[in-house]
Amino acid sequence: MNNLNKDNKSFSSAISQWYLTSGRNNLPWREKISPYRVWISEIMLQQTQVKTVIPFFKKFIGKYPNLKSICDATEDDILALWSGLGFYRRAKNIFKAKEIIKNKYNNCFPKKFDELLLLPGIGRSTAGAIMSIAYGESYPILDANVKRVISRFNDIDVKDKGAIKSLWLLSKTYTPSKNIFEYTQGIMDLGATICHLRVPSCSNCPLNTSCKSSFKEFEVIKNDKKQKLNKKINFMLAHSNQSFLLFKKNKKSFWESLWIPYERQNRERSDFFKRPLRSETKNFNHALSHIDLNITLEIFEYKKPFKIKTNLEHKWVKKDELNKFGLPKPIKSIIENYV
Ligand code: SF4
Repeated sequence: MNNLNKDNKSFSSAISQWYLTSGRNNLPWREKISPYRVWISEIMLQQTQVKTVIPFFKKFIGKYPNLKSICDATEDDILALWSGLGFYRRAKNIFKAKEIIKNKYNNCFPKKFDELLLLPGIGRSTAGAIMSIAYGESYPILDANVKRVISRFNDIDVKDKGAIKSLWLLSKTYTPSKNIFEYTQGIMDLGATICHLRVPSCSNCPLNTSCKSSFKEFEVIKNDKKQKLNKKINFMLAHSNQSFLLFKKNKKSFWESLWIPYERQNRERSDFFKRPLRSETKNFNHALSHIDLNITLEIFEYKKPFKIKTNLEHKWVKKDELNKFGLPKPIKSIIENYV
């Protein structure tokens, strides 16, 4: 740590000042600040870019503006609003966390850092963001943007052993006791809008006179692409009069708890789908973060909805009620456009 750039006061005040003139004040979660709104936005922003999150956040807050309104929501209700945002475990964690808040904290948002850390989906950085942005308390954060600013400022290679521990220590050192709101929002914005991954805009950065990496040329970082898995899926979708037979996925894997067509296992001949009026087959690919799906979807039309005998949770869902259920984006899109 001896050679590190530790002039914490000038670092934090430069960022707080910069935020007041150049920060992204117009983001919807920066209006009407509350622990609840900060929590929802921080969970949505995990693994997803700001511009993608904005319409989902507005829709979510439109339906559930506060803890009181989300109190009785089911997991399905929350997954339905999450449809298309991906990484659905986040929505499941919101459901679990709001149940804990309801039952353990009398539906009042926890105020202590250690209590926040115990809620599903909330790690050290998210808890720090809620404490500093919503409660104005001095807690460090270390999301991807903050990590980039602090590591470049100190010329730390994030891949080095012990780097993350050093970055947390530095983040703690830089985090001020005053103006914590401006500082926390500012360092996140600086990483997102100035200290870009590939070509940082150092000439516009308030840290450029003391940053150890300013005006340095950064190599174009190629992601260490792990070999993605490929998976073939065979779906069977029955429909009748604008209703579709969907099943709740209960396997602990991607799309868990979402509503999907019947998934036919290898060479299985399902008895559910006999003598349709007509049928058609669609083939398409869909990429998830860790797996590429090659999907075959057989669609069967029937005169009227029918009953099936199965232990699998299932429902005939009307097309105009699709928004009440959590569906994977490609399946939802096919059903919505199906005539
Ligand atoms: S001077 Fe450049 S490299 Fe350093 S923090 Fe600012 S934008 Fe990033």
